Amino acid sequence: MGTALRAWTARVCRLSGCARQAARLGARLLRYDGAVKLSVPRETAPGERRTPLSPDSIPRLKSLGLEVCVEAGAGIEAGFSDESLAAAGAEVAPDRSGCLAGAGLVCKVQPPSAEEAAALPEGSALISFLPTSTSAEVVTELLRRRVTAFSFELVPRISRAQAMDALSSQASIGGYKAVLVGAARLAKILPLQMTAAGTVAPARVLVMGAGVAGLQAIATARRLGAVVEATDVRSAAKEEVQSLGATFVELDLEVQEGEGGYAREQSEEFLQRQRELIAQRVEQSDLVVTTAAVPGRKAPILITKELVERMRVGAVIVDLAADTGGNCELTRPGEEVQVGGVVILGWRNLPATVPTTASQMLARNVAAIAGHLIKEGELVLDFDDEITAGSCALHDGQIRNQLMREAAQLGPGPG
Ligand code: NAD
Repeated sequence: MGTALRAWTARVCRLSGCARQAARLGARLLRYDGAVKLSVPRETAPGERRTPLSPDSIPRLKSLGLEVCVEAGAGIEAGFSDESLAAAGAEVAPDRSGCLAGAGLVCKVQPPSAEEAAALPEGSALISFLPTSTSAEVVTELLRRRVTAFSFELVPRISRAQAMDALSSQASIGGYKAVLVGAARLAKILPLQMTAAGTVAPARVLVMGAGVAGLQAIATARRLGAVVEATDVRSAAKEEVQSLGATFVELDLEVQEGEGGYAREQSEEFLQRQRELIAQRVEQSDLVVTTAAVPGRKAPILITKELVERMRVGAVIVDLAADTGGNCELTRPGEEVQVGGVVILGWRNLPATVPTTASQMLARNVAAIAGHLIKEGELVLDFDDEITAGSCALHDGQIRNQLMREAAQLGPGPG
């Protein structure tokens, strides 16, 4: 172990003993060789082409007093060469261990695997997607290494945190791409065409779930010339849908409104009635994009097998909720399914298929989070702050989020 790393380890160990009290006081943690080192290793999850760093974000990170280090090749699939990242001010480490050595803050897109978690420096901080359902094995390893983990999923959806909201930035790209893959799979065009040979009617698109992804899907389908309808259980969605030139399908349902702008999990009885009321619209649609989700819960089933069988031959369903079980009963995550001439696309992680834009946006989200956490070049944990407290999933060997604690089944703790 190098002298600098030994000194840093000793400092972290010293600090970790009083970390809880220090954090409560908003005290300073994790400093290495004069500056906190922010490290970005290469993503290893299959199909993940994004990176949480872009040439544009590096000057901003450095202006916070951070040293920025990236593993060679980490940005290549997003269109950011090592040279472009180095030119923007990042150090390029030849391998993962060089990249992570001495890191105070590690930024990733996907949650770490157990192996990646074991490679994180003890006492370091992590910013990544980290669903509350992250496996107990990974959570245990992060706790063992006393990693302070910030989860993109847990960043509060408040105005002050909008620039940090990676769920929104990525959902928006997913909604856009869902319409493109659906349109490409359809056997007809989306816009109205008036030709010498006659008029071609526009395609009918139905968007189920008009949150961030759904609204972007509506806007994209409208730009492509489709006739668009949308539905949601939140009454607030109506105005947003209409402002994009789509028709809001109102259903005669008594909705239980959720908290913080989110939908609440509805009863099976409610969903049954919702499916009956929306069935006719689904049957008439050429392309259905489903995005309905309830935070921390399995996605609601909005399209049953029976309803798929009643759809038009050649119709396409793009199920953006595939990762959380799917809104269509027949969706198989990561696969294309064909049932009686209806195509169901359960593609996972669509934002990763637009890696340059998705990474640029993610990099801005990371820079905004870092800007919030880093004060005068040091990581400052102020748990009286709603954003810091809300987005921090793990700290000081403890799980801070109740849903994550339940999923990991690791027993009681604070938070
Ligand atoms: P989400 O991904 O959790 O859900 C997607 C959509 O599915 C939501 O609109 C939800 O109402 C809908 N849905 C859930 N159950 C449904 C059902 N049975 N049938 C039909 N639709 C159903 O949500 P999201 O896109 O992340 O955003 C949800 C809300 O949060 C929106 O109001 C959005 O404007 C708000 N938001 C606020 C901020 C902020 O203030 N910073 C940032 C992002 C989003």
